[in-house]
Order: sequence, then structure tokens, then C-alpha cells
Amino acid sequence: MDILQSYINGEFVDSGEYFDNINPVNGEVIASISEANEAMIGQAIASAREALSGPWGRLSVNERSVLLHKVADRMAEREQEFIDAEIADTGKSLFQVKTIDIPRGTANFRFFADQVKYQGGESFVTQTPGGEKALNYSVNKPLGVVAVISPWNLPLLLATWKVAPALACGNCVILKPSEETSSTAVLLAQVMDEVGVPKGVFNLILGRGKVVGDKLTTAPGIDAVTFTGASATGKQIMKSVAETVKPISFELGGKNAAIVFAKADIDKAVAGVIRSTFTNCGQVCLCTEKVYVHRSLFTPFLERLKQAAENIKIGYPLEQDVFMGPLVSKVHQQKVLAYYRLAREEGAEVVTGGGVPVFNDDRDSGCFIEPTILTGLGDEARVNQEEIFGPVCHVSVFDDEEEVIRRVNNTPYGLAAAIWTEHLAQAHRVAAKIDVGLVWVNTWFLRDLRAPFGGVKLSGIGREGGEHSLAFYSEPSNICIKI
Ligand code: NAD
Repeated sequence: MDILQSYINGEFVDSGEYFDNINPVNGEVIASISEANEAMIGQAIASAREALSGPWGRLSVNERSVLLHKVADRMAEREQEFIDAEIADTGKSLFQVKTIDIPRGTANFRFFADQVKYQGGESFVTQTPGGEKALNYSVNKPLGVVAVISPWNLPLLLATWKVAPALACGNCVILKPSEETSSTAVLLAQVMDEVGVPKGVFNLILGRGKVVGDKLTTAPGIDAVTFTGASATGKQIMKSVAETVKPISFELGGKNAAIVFAKADIDKAVAGVIRSTFTNCGQVCLCTEKVYVHRSLFTPFLERLKQAAENIKIGYPLEQDVFMGPLVSKVHQQKVLAYYRLAREEGAEVVTGGGVPVFNDDRDSGCFIEPTILTGLGDEARVNQEEIFGPVCHVSVFDDEEEVIRRVNNTPYGLAAAIWTEHLAQAHRVAAKIDVGLVWVNTWFLRDLRAPFGGVKLSGIGREGGEHSLAFYSEPSNICIKI
């Protein structure tokens, strides 16, 4: 059986302590993961600090850009291995992994390799009170050693969304991927090795969050922490890093709404809400969990949404037309099922789903769950307030614009929203009043890597994407010259 190992100072390292890597399609153990220990974290940090002042630290921006393009080229050459590894860890459909996860992982390196070449600074000619002049200008420096902690839902895509800009800006990186999905991170370490990224520049630390993740964020020698994951973990990390006052970037959970206005194109809205609720089994931070439908459309919309949800094909990742695979793990399956039970206890009507599909084959030992639509709950119900992160939405009726804006904003989260309407002025008006970082109108998850990405309230701190990422991963240093 394969053993997945950490990558430290240019070597794969085994700690001698292991836990199982499980395939969520059928519960089989597919690999053993060697969990890093404290000494290994220390070695990774020491090697990264040394690399900052070695050949890596002396590369020009253009040379770093060329190297990052080589990383992308090699990832593209090994694309099938990345696809197979991501499917084995997550059970996602081949279609999704092939069209989103892996190509976007590669694209992140290409994008930031190019973007960093155009990173500018600021400059001001300053008049002193005595009538003299000074020139102020800023230069960008790397932060130093950046700890990258990433989740399991889009493993390669979200890890590279941080690793690529951090390296582009000249930092050294220590990546800790989710313990559920370490395989593509190991392939990425192999790629770094193969294309000649100097040792110590990219390190990979494998292990569980509460064991290894916590040690990494509190270890001396880490200059910044960038984290994508649950809001509760974000709170924990914020407390851990407070002692050493370092930059943090947080992309956290969401409780995202879709609003279907009276002037929506109902075909587009049904298809859009199906996609935004059930893509990746609802395990995307941007997924819709609350749907507000104008009273004039409520009954036909709900009926059509139910039909479409019941037509979703659930199955093996490589099966034709499969839209939903399993959830990522048994633990997560139990968490989502607990919310299905809670919904019933809170008085919800289950429009469709609400349980576990039965296949009468090895998938019955996996982590599958039915796409589920609920209705009948108030906005204060826990099911309408807490992030479930599964293939489920609650559909409510509304009457007017001000009401729906107030209800959509009634959540501790503030990540994303989708608005469905053909009424242009209404779309602009409402989009600006929703307390979230990202609003889509008549679409969902349409991404431009230059656009600011992130959330407000419990959904995060800071923005990623384009120049926002470069701003986080570099430190502007102002130089003032008297002239
Ligand atoms: P999680 O918080 O459990 O784990 C994320 C990462 O943090 C993993 O690598 C984990 O090992 C590590 N970790 C756990 N405890 C830690 C600790 N105490 N110290 C340091 N590291 C620790 O999240 P998850 O279950 O992997 O991912 C799902 C969550 O991520 C959802 O809440 C989802 O909304 C959120 N998410 C947000 C975005 C976004 O861009 N806003 C994107 C994807 C996922």
C-alpha cells in the first residue's frame, strides 16, 4: 500500500506514525498517511528560512515566473495522475475533477506567474514645509515563511490558490493540506522537486489539523498564516497566532442564499439553483443552502426544483453523467445526516431526499447521501442559520425586496449570494445591499481570477485573487529620498 509522506528540505520524510487514507466511495483504505511530528515541522521551518536567503531569494521576479510556469507545465504533463489521486481521495465525478479541480490548480500557477510580473508599487513626490522635495516609493518584499492550511473540498485548487501567489511573491511555503485529501499535495511536492524548485522553498507537512495544523500555526519562524476552512477552525487559529501578531488571511464558511425574483427566468433559475446547491455534493463554500422564492413563482419553482433534484445521478466517479459522488468522509456524512434529522425536529417539510441512497453494492459502505430539499422552516431555525456543507437547501417564500434583503442578511456568515432576475435595476440594487463578499446575478461560481474573492462576518478576513493575493503575500517597504 502507498505511504504518503511529508516533503521537507527537498526530501520525502517518514515519521513512523500513520493513519489511514480512505476512499469515500466504498470505505476502502487506499493509502497510509505518515503524520508529521513537531521535529519535522521545525525542520521544515528551518529549511524554509534558509532558502529565503539562498538561491531562491536571489531570483528575479521574471526568473520566479519562469519556474512557476515550469511547475504548471509539469502538472499538465502529469494531469491524469492528479485526476486519479483527487478522485481516489474525494470520490468526486471525473467530469468535475477534469473540468474544475485539476485544470484550475494548474491555472493558478500560470495566472500568478504572469500577474506578479506586473505588480507595481506606489510613488509620491512630497513637498516639505520648507519648500524642499522628497521622493517616496515602495518596493515589494516577501513576507518570509508562509504556512498554508487548506481544506478537503477542492483540495488541489484551494491549496494552489495560496501556494502559487505566495511563491510568486518570493516567499517560502509550508503547505498542510487536509488529512482527508493529501494525495494531490504529495504529487505537487513531486512536481516541485522535478522542475528544480530549490530545496526548502516548498515544504509539505501531512497530518491531522488538531495535531499538526495547530503546531504549525504556533511554531516560531512562521511569518504569516493563510487558511481556508471552517469558521470554528479560523477562530482557533486566530487565537493561536495572536501571541506572535502575524498577518492572517482567512477564507471561512458560508450560509449562502439564492434569491429568485418574480422576474426570474424560471428555467435558468431552477438549473442554477440545482448547480449551486448540489455541485460537489454541496461541499463548496459558495454553495447555496437557503433559497428565497417570490410568492408568484414559489409553487412551480419548488415543484421543478424537486423534479430536477430527483433526476440527479448519484454514483461512481467514472460512471457516465454522474453529477454527485459521496461526501468526503463518514464523519461528514454523519454531520450532514444529523442536520437532516434536526430539520425534521425543527418542523421542516422534506420535499425530497433526507436520507442515504441504497445501491446494494460496495457503495453502501461509502459516504453517499441523498440530495435534499426542505421547506417550512423560519429563518431562525438552526438549519437556516448554520453551515451544513452538504447537498441540501431550504426553500422559503418572500413578498418584497426589502424583506428578502433583510432575511438574506440575517446570518452570521457573509460569503456569497446568487440573484435570479431579468430585472436589471433590481439586480444592481439588491446585489449592492447583500452583506457578502461575492454576488452572482443569473449565474453562480463564474470566476475571474483577478476579481476580489472572500467573505465578511464569520466568512473570513481579507480578499484573495489577482492583486489582492499579491498584496497579502508581499510586504510593501517605503523608501523616502530627499531630493
Ligand atoms: P477544517 O477547518 O476542518 O479544516 C481545514 C484545514 O484546517 C485542514 O487542513 C485541517 O487539517 C486544518 N485544521 C483543523 N484544525 C486545525 C487547527 N486547530 N489548527 C490548524 N489547522 C487546523 O475545514 P474542512 O472541513 O476541511 O473544510 C470545510 C470548511 O471550509 C467549510 O466550512 C467551508 O465553508 C470552508 N471553506 C471555505 C472556503 C472559502 O473560500 N471561504 C473554501 C473552501 C472551504
